Amino acid sequence: KQGKLLGAYKLARHAFEKLQTMKPPARFQQLIDLGSIQIRAKPFNDNEDLMPMCYRCGTSNPMLNNSGNICLHCKTPFVFSYVSFEVLPLVEFACDDDIPDKEAIELIAAEPPLTDTEHALKDPFKQRSHLDVTSGALLKVNRATLISLNKTEVIVAEWPKPLKTRYYRNMIPEISVSKCPNCHRVFHVDDYELAVLQEGHCPFCRGKNEEILRGHLTDEELDI
Ligand SMILES: [Zn+2]
Ligand SMILES: [Zn+2]
Repeated sequence: KQGKLLGAYKLARHAFEKLQTMKPPARFQQLIDLGSIQIRAKPFNDNEDLMPMCYRCGTSNPMLNNSGNICLHCKTPFVFSYVSFEVLPLVEFACDDDIPDKEAIELIAAEPPLTDTEHALKDPFKQRSHLDVTSGALLKVNRATLISLNKTEVIVAEWPKPLKTRYYRNMIPEISVSKCPNCHRVFHVDDYELAVLQEGHCPFCRGKNEEILRGHLTDEELDI
């Protein structure tokens, strides 16, 4: 029903088709029948604005994707905010196999060398023509790319061993993304800080984030 209002007609159609195959309680049956007929009068496609856009190759993806939450074109996984379930502008990447995590993190934290246009042109995150659509693997980056990354644009999720450390690059730095230090889920900064301040803990793992709480307290004290 929401889908119809928002223009997600294709998704709504699919939901109604599924509902038609079920045996709902009689009081819902009429609503479903009515909705199924109304949706036939609507355009067949979802509103483009609602379709998750891949931040690596720029493809708009269908709202219902049988291969899971990855881009149909380049197979890059979508990264969702765990509050709003919106797609975040993050592209996950991996480091070349011979780069240990410790070194990778140091390279990312290091000041990038002065940007020369030649290197900017070679940014592998922005090269669409060379996109290897068949591999299905994460983008792999070398030392030169790691050092050229701005540390504010990179999110490193250091999962405890034996899990692997995962790296994300924020393709739209204007959209701030925070990561919970406890559960490593990522959120829009505003969603996360609001939840921490209102509930006192992370919206996903309920872990406390002392940094934000403390930062907020001192701000308040300064106001007084
Ligand atoms: Zn893609
Ligand atoms: Zn958390």
